[in-house]
Amino acid sequence: MTGAFSETSVGAFAPSLRDVPSELRRKYETRGPRYTSYPPANHFGPVSPGDVAARWREGLLGRDREVGLYVHVPFCKTRCAFCGCHTEAGAPASRVEGYLLAIEKELETTAALLGGAVAVTELAVGGGSPNHLTAAQLARLLDAVEKRFTFTASAERSVELDPRRTTEDQVALLSARGFNRFSMGVQDFDQRVLDLSRAGQRPEHVRALVEILQRHGQSAINFDLVCGLPHQTVETAEATAQKTVELGPSRIALYGFALLEDFLPHQKALRGNPSPSADRAIAIRARMSQIFVEHGYVPIGMDHFARPSDELLAAAKERRLGRTFMGYTVRRDLSVFGAGPSAIAGVGSAYSQNHKDLDAYISSCDRGELPIARGHLLGRDDEIRREVIRDLSCNFAVSFPRIRALHGISPVEHFREEIKQLEHFETDGLLCVNEDGIVMTETGRLFVRNACMVFDRYLKSAAPQTYSRTLG
Ligand code: SF4
Repeated sequence: MTGAFSETSVGAFAPSLRDVPSELRRKYETRGPRYTSYPPANHFGPVSPGDVAARWREGLLGRDREVGLYVHVPFCKTRCAFCGCHTEAGAPASRVEGYLLAIEKELETTAALLGGAVAVTELAVGGGSPNHLTAAQLARLLDAVEKRFTFTASAERSVELDPRRTTEDQVALLSARGFNRFSMGVQDFDQRVLDLSRAGQRPEHVRALVEILQRHGQSAINFDLVCGLPHQTVETAEATAQKTVELGPSRIALYGFALLEDFLPHQKALRGNPSPSADRAIAIRARMSQIFVEHGYVPIGMDHFARPSDELLAAAKERRLGRTFMGYTVRRDLSVFGAGPSAIAGVGSAYSQNHKDLDAYISSCDRGELPIARGHLLGRDDEIRREVIRDLSCNFAVSFPRIRALHGISPVEHFREEIKQLEHFETDGLLCVNEDGIVMTETGRLFVRNACMVFDRYLKSAAPQTYSRTLG
């Protein structure tokens, strides 16, 4: 397959599962991880914070030491029924104060360990709802970060906003503090879908927030939409997609809804309301994708769309897309530190996740420890598999010469069993494999999570119901 890597990883059109024969869809229909890490976070286990810190130092040694920093704000006013995030609804002011004091200590502990050896090139503040904090509290949180970490001159600073509750004061503060990318949880524009899944949100909230952002000179606006919510139909989804393109965000993420009642009891509120069938979810996604592409958006990776001017597109074309817990990033292999309850760090060959329970998190920070509850120290085989899965999920292609150069192994030998398992993908026209590597076809990109799962050696020990559907 000479020349396989001259193919671009960016699709000129959005291939649609609707156009795939139903028997082929049935054959691959399953549940699986989204691979924002490998191994996926449900395989993390007990780790010693000291071992994690040692891996951090080792992972940053000899690198250019540009890192990402994710700050988690674990509060929301109310809980949305579909939400899968770690958050507390309606926390009193004393709890927010306890969080702020604790995260200042965590940032202090982390910065002391790193000894000023890193520069932050991507700061992401997410949650929960960062705008649950007042402008003054947000300023205090940002002071705590900026006092302890230096930033590169062109650092991206992004924040997630809840359109129901973001004030002009908060946007003014964030803009003044250099924030230059704003993601808003739109979910859907259909009032019936919103009333059920995100109480109190009106389509006007999104428009109003876009206008506030524009008044403050912000143009890098992301919309997060959810596909597969109860009561969505192709017609409601079409209207949502049309409203989205009218408002013109620079990026759109179209996430699939996963009903995981056993793990997220608050989702029981959705009981008795029909979720779209697998086939309908596929049709919904297909129609929305088609509308985005017709309006000039370019599909990127598993679930993103970007305007041609957005840097995500350039990164995809140049094969330097990365995938972290924050989703797709424009930097391949970016190490990301996490701060706040439940925050996950992926630095070098270590993953770690902070205590989810706020009290446990605060106690750990008070003791001057890294508040790590669990994690995973990657072995050599993990690192190789992570590279392959990342290449597939970001670029829809794996270069065997690159893997060989990076890890000193023969991929054809190392993955003999996996390559055999890919034969039926090849027979079905989903990808091509030879000694140069793996390239997914346009249609095959729709099955990329299935292809990644072939390389996941932890998958057998996970309950499938932990995951969302890989198709649709
Ligand atoms: S605002 Fe966001 S984080 Fe908070 S409950 Fe709703 S979806 Fe979850």
